[in-house]
Amino acid sequence: MNNKVKFLQSINFKVAIVFMLMLLATIEIIGAYFTRQLEQNTIDSFETSIQVPSLITNQISTQLEKSDYTKANREISNILADYDTSQINDVEVIDGRGIIRAVSNINDSDKVGQRSTNSDIKDVSFSNQKFSKIVKDNGNSSLVQITPISSQTGGTATGVIYVRASMESVFADIREVTLTFLTASLVASLLGAVIALLVSRAITRPIEEMKKQAIRMASGDYSGKVRVYSHDELGQLAMAVNNLSVRVEEAQDVSESERRRLDNVLTHMTDGVIATDRHGNITIINEMALSFLNKSEKEVIGESITELLGLQDQMTMQDLMSNQQELIIGINEGSSRELILHANFSLIQRITGFVSGLVCVLHDVTEQHKNEREQRQFVSNVSHELRTPLTSLRSYVEALNDGAWKDPKVAPQFLKVTQDETERMIRMINDLLSLSRMDQGTAKMELEWVNLNEFLGYILDRFDMMIEKSDDDEKTKKYSIKRKFTPRDVWVEIDTDKMTQVLDNIMNNAIKYSPDGGVITVRLVQMQNHVVINISDQGLGIPRKDLNKIFDRFYRVDKARSRKQGGTGLGLAISKEVVEAHHGRIWADSAEGRGSTFYISLPFEPLSDGGEWDEI
Ligand code: ADP
Repeated sequence: MNNKVKFLQSINFKVAIVFMLMLLATIEIIGAYFTRQLEQNTIDSFETSIQVPSLITNQISTQLEKSDYTKANREISNILADYDTSQINDVEVIDGRGIIRAVSNINDSDKVGQRSTNSDIKDVSFSNQKFSKIVKDNGNSSLVQITPISSQTGGTATGVIYVRASMESVFADIREVTLTFLTASLVASLLGAVIALLVSRAITRPIEEMKKQAIRMASGDYSGKVRVYSHDELGQLAMAVNNLSVRVEEAQDVSESERRRLDNVLTHMTDGVIATDRHGNITIINEMALSFLNKSEKEVIGESITELLGLQDQMTMQDLMSNQQELIIGINEGSSRELILHANFSLIQRITGFVSGLVCVLHDVTEQHKNEREQRQFVSNVSHELRTPLTSLRSYVEALNDGAWKDPKVAPQFLKVTQDETERMIRMINDLLSLSRMDQGTAKMELEWVNLNEFLGYILDRFDMMIEKSDDDEKTKKYSIKRKFTPRDVWVEIDTDKMTQVLDNIMNNAIKYSPDGGVITVRLVQMQNHVVINISDQGLGIPRKDLNKIFDRFYRVDKARSRKQGGTGLGLAISKEVVEAHHGRIWADSAEGRGSTFYISLPFEPLSDGGEWDEI
């Protein structure tokens, strides 16, 4: 059914039907003209064929002029009997007075001598003009011809000859010819229809192929080619379609590779990119933006950009479009995954100026903000740290100035305090200088291969010496050091001065924060590809929440206590920088009230393939 409808709608059918209709119209016009002409000619020639010859009319005219009617009528009847044609049915001779003088049909002989009632006969007698007409009698057509008989002497007509001939045979002939013509027309029409279909098929076939190729091209298949059947307009069109297919394929390839390039650029960009339509709904978002916002592409496509960036309470899409300002956006504020993004908005505009969307570029400025914050914090910390000893110095110097220097009891004590504070400030400035050198990368590393067992032993010996020296001193804190070193020699490449500073700091802390008589255990453990030095004390320990922060600059768990013990709060920060400069790691573990352990892990390459290492 569908195919039938398709065929009826096709150009193929339309061309064929137009062709056929034209053929039929031509045949009809020719046929109508032809049959009309044929009919006219046949009637004309029939009329001529039934015309009474002039010889006969002359003879009849002679008889009509005679006065002996009876003899003349007999003579005329004889003439008529002699003049007998198969086509003529009836002949009557009527004289000038309208009296029927003779008839050819014997059955009508009683009409002879009677006056004719036919008005046409009267008209012809008067007008002396020949007259003919076709009459229908009981469904049979006949031709009536009334011819005036001229007198032998000239002048008016002496009578008329009335001839009636049946036209049935004539019309039968015409019908036969018309039928033949109709049959021929029908055959010609059918033949014409077949030819029209074939011709239109030949014309529409290339068009059909081009249509199929266009559909294939639309679905992205450019592999096919249209066959070129000729070099006429259709052939040229087919060549143009083939050319177009190649061009479109090339253009498609170019735009596809362009798209892939853009995709690649967007995917590998370190900035997040979000594009929206003109309503602010997201149409494109790259990997980096998704990772910033911790969302999947499915979740955000079609969503409003203001909602995604959490700006819906501050501004509308119209505000964003009209101002295209730069914004700082905080994501997961207050959590450990906090991100600070710098968002730059710009419009996507067509050449006509029509705004079709918005592009937002997100740049992660978390680190920058953190650094700026830390810098501000650091300046405030340094000012604060220096202000305390300076204030204390000023008050002691003022007291001395006001006369305390004369008091032999307090003067030495005041001077001791000023000396301690000055030394603490010098220590702090020195620590800050080494940190600053580390930060700027100007602190040069003097690396050398060292036997770590020996190096650690040497440092701990110094602390043992300090215990021995202070044995008699009641005020100095008592402690003991336990060594638990791997029996294997561990060779590492380190800057001995800087590493001494680290170990001194951790050991000093262990002593500082340990109770009197505490035991400090120092272990040296060799692992597969690193060595770990751990220093445990039995001191007051560090609360869990502070464990990560003690390596920050100026961070102290108990500020008053640390300050009282002369601490700067920078020792562990310097230690961390030094260890990390050795590509190592430093961390602490502690059980509050029971002691702390500090770990220093350094990279290590075993010299032998023994593959043995210590258990922790
Ligand atoms: P400070 O000069 O104050 O000792 P550090 O950077 O060396 O500065 O140490 C930072 C803080 O870490 C100290 O103030 C202290 O609160 C804590 N701390 C360091 N070592 C220990 C330890 N062995 N036991 C307990 N707390 C410690």
